[in-house]
Amino acid sequence: MSDLRVRFAPSPTGYLHIGGARTALFNYLLARKEQGTYILRIEDTDVERSTQQSVDAILQAMDWLGLSYDEGPFYQSERFDLYKQKVQQLLDEGKAYKCYCSAETLTQKREAAMERGDKPQYDETCRDLEPRDDDSPYVIRFKSQRAGATSFNDRIKGTITFENTELDDMIIQRTDGTPTYNFVVVIDDAEMGLTQVIRGDDHVNNTPRQIQIYNALGYALPEFAHVPMILGADKKRLSKRHGATSVMDYRVMGYLPEAMVNYLVRLGWSCGDEEIFSMDDLIEKFSLDNVGRSAGVFNPEKLLWLNEHYIKTGDPQRLGELLKEYLEKDGVQITADIDCAEVVKSLQDRSKTMVEMAEKAAFYFSDSLVFDGKAQAKFITAVLGRERCLARLDHAITLAQ
Ligand code: GLU
Repeated sequence: MSDLRVRFAPSPTGYLHIGGARTALFNYLLARKEQGTYILRIEDTDVERSTQQSVDAILQAMDWLGLSYDEGPFYQSERFDLYKQKVQQLLDEGKAYKCYCSAETLTQKREAAMERGDKPQYDETCRDLEPRDDDSPYVIRFKSQRAGATSFNDRIKGTITFENTELDDMIIQRTDGTPTYNFVVVIDDAEMGLTQVIRGDDHVNNTPRQIQIYNALGYALPEFAHVPMILGADKKRLSKRHGATSVMDYRVMGYLPEAMVNYLVRLGWSCGDEEIFSMDDLIEKFSLDNVGRSAGVFNPEKLLWLNEHYIKTGDPQRLGELLKEYLEKDGVQITADIDCAEVVKSLQDRSKTMVEMAEKAAFYFSDSLVFDGKAQAKFITAVLGRERCLARLDHAITLAQ
């Protein structure tokens, strides 16, 4: 075991999408390569948007991709006591304060700032209020460092610097007492001993805010690595317009998990001009050094090409078991006398997806056989055996009479 500790920290507000799965995979590969520890943390502090159904969907997708974790899943919703304690610590040390500004006032001020062409920021009305005994609703804000700059050395993007004037006093605890993402992510990453934080680059702007929280709470910083986003062919951020974005939709469409893993890893990482990687190859070869700085472009044809490759070269026994699932979904009655591995062998050169294979395989299980030429007769006989073919032909003839 090495000291490396990484994590995947999804918010359970929907299915596991392509981008999330790639983040999960990169973390997994690094953990396995370095014999470190892979942690799964469910970021469900937003109680209204988080659902158990999403948690289940994410766990199921990780399982399908073969991304096993060593610790967790931890749920942030079960760690509220710890977060409360840290909020109190910051309040006691004068590093956070109660803000009584109403939502309406804040909206008005934000709109006015935008009209003036200013960047909307909290105007610090409550920053220096004397502590008061007041039961009107409040949020708790972090007193950010306003002078100087916050800089970090991103493992993928190099040095990134933010002027502290860009960072206003963010809310760390909402009116209902629940803590916010930028606050709890720091506490958890620090308390869970993470050495690297690898995540999508949509979080780059959050990082300086988080660094200030690390400093305020006296935690050591992890190394940050922000992975470039994934775009569609039109160079716009990947969305449903570009096709299915849920990893598990691809399973339904007849994709193999090894094709998906191979595809995902190449969205941002490369190793010379190699294209085909098994999970074992990846564990050996993966490194953050070869993660590019530019966005990955989602290419469904390439994913299909990889799937075709893995179907063609897959173990017929295993694919046979999978094929049964797809046949059953199509309502095909599977009869024990037919060896699905043989069915796979007859079709794996001609199927791009398991759905396509199931469509082609259905006739093996039908009562009557229709031979379409000599070549087909040959492979049908190879799978079913001569006697079963004859019996079915007999059956067909009986039905026809
Ligand atoms: N929960 C965050 C998300 O799903 C990820 C946070 C992080 O990786 O720091 O976007």
